Amino acid sequence: MRLLLIEDDPMIGRAVSAGLADAGFAVDWVHDGQAAELSLAVGSYDMAVLDLGLPKKDGMAVLTTLRSRANALPVLIATARDAVADRVAGLNAGADDYIVKPFDLDELVARVRAVLRRHSAAASSLLVCGRLVLDPLRKTVTHRDEPVTLSAREFALLEALMQRPGAVLSRKKLEESVYNWEDDLGSNAVEVHIHRLRKKLGAEVIRNVRGVGYRVGED
Ligand code: CA
Repeated sequence: MRLLLIEDDPMIGRAVSAGLADAGFAVDWVHDGQAAELSLAVGSYDMAVLDLGLPKKDGMAVLTTLRSRANALPVLIATARDAVADRVAGLNAGADDYIVKPFDLDELVARVRAVLRRHSAAASSLLVCGRLVLDPLRKTVTHRDEPVTLSAREFALLEALMQRPGAVLSRKKLEESVYNWEDDLGSNAVEVHIHRLRKKLGAEVIRNVRGVGYRVGED
């Protein structure tokens, strides 16, 4: 596992990289926000430990840029800012967890491991049905290894169906899983989206069980 440590304080940086190395991680250490962005752009890391108060580019800005590029790299924020608002802002900006300085090295290592565990569990949560693959995390669908572009509603419908392959879901059930209570729901909205999905994926992928509902996969 390769980690990027982004920390401008030399003492903390040395201690943390040594602690993470002792725990078996390969650690690259950069000292400012710009160097962090360069490293994140060229290096392939499994996770980043990110200080918020950084020279050249603030840690929060580094995180926001990363997420705006749809980069799902796990990020643990290490911050001296103990204010709840900062921690909430960090989590809202897409951090996976945070730790408040001064922290214990053992706790840092434990949190890094916990974030990596959660992330790999999410990454393996692909929904697969024959040659149809849906990634709930990245919001992508491939069919016969070709990417398929779906609207948000089509994606949500397909996700609901693929969560229970082989099961027949009623129109009512699908409506519940796709629409929130604010939606002005046309009476045949689900049918319309299913129709579009079948056009994109092939009619055989989603079966219409007459009078009952829809299913993907075998019985
Ligand atoms: Ca700092």
